[in-house]
Amino acid sequence: MSATSNKDAAARLADVRAAIAAAEREAGRDEGTCRLIAVSKTFDAEAIRPVLESGQRIFGENRVQEAQGKWPELRADFDDLELHLIGPLQSNKAHDAVALFDVIHTIDREKIARALKAECENQGRTLRFFIQVNTGEEQQKAGIAPGDADAFIALCRDELRLDIAGLMCIPPVEDMPGPHFALLQKIAARNSLPELSMGMSADYETAIRFGATCVRVGSAIFGTRDTH
Ligand SMILES: *Cc1c(COP(=O)(O)O)cnc(C)c1O
Repeated sequence: MSATSNKDAAARLADVRAAIAAAEREAGRDEGTCRLIAVSKTFDAEAIRPVLESGQRIFGENRVQEAQGKWPELRADFDDLELHLIGPLQSNKAHDAVALFDVIHTIDREKIARALKAECENQGRTLRFFIQVNTGEEQQKAGIAPGDADAFIALCRDELRLDIAGLMCIPPVEDMPGPHFALLQKIAARNSLPELSMGMSADYETAIRFGATCVRVGSAIFGTRDTH
C-alpha cells in the first residue's frame, strides 16, 4: 500500500465514524451506543496500521489462518485492540480461533458450540460470542434457522454456559435488509440478548435504525477488495 492510500483509509474511517454518529442521533440513540468493527479481511498489516493509528481498536476478520498471519505483530504494538471473528468456523479451527480472537460472531450449530466451550476451558480463555441467525433461510448460508434460534440460544447460554452477547446476521444480498434486521432484533429481544451484530458498508446506517450495537464495516474503510 502506498502512503497516499494509507491516508485514505484513515480519512474514510473518519467519514464512517461521523455517519455512525449521525445515524445514532437520527434514531434517537445516545452517541457511542453502536460500536464499529473495522473489517480488515484481505488487507495486510501495513494497510491496517494507519487505521490503528487513527484510534480504531476493534477489528473483524473472516478467516482464522489469514488473521494468524498479521494480528500477532499488530497486537505487539497495540495491546488494547479487540479482534472479532466474523466468518464461518470449522471445529478443527476452534483451537486457533479461541487462542487468537476475543469475540466470535458465528456460532450456528451444536458441534461448534461444544468445541468452543472445550477450547475456552482448556486454554483458560474468556471469549464473548454471538449466535449467527440465517434470517433469509438461505440454503448455502451459515446460521441457525430462525425457528430453531430460541432452543439453540438456550443450549449455548444455559447448558454450555457460553457468554452469549447477542445475535448476528448477514441479510441476503438481493433483499432489502430492514426486515432481516427487524427479525434479528425480535429474536434477541424475546431471549433478553442485548447485542445485535448487523450492518455492513452498504447498510450500516439502516442497521443502526433497527438497533445494531455493532456494525461490521470493511470496504467503506479499507477500499474495494479483490476477493471475499
Ligand atoms: C466482509 C464482511 C463484512 C464487511 O463487508 P463490507 O461490505 O466490505 O463492509 C461484514 N460482515 C461479514 C460477515 C463479512 O464477511
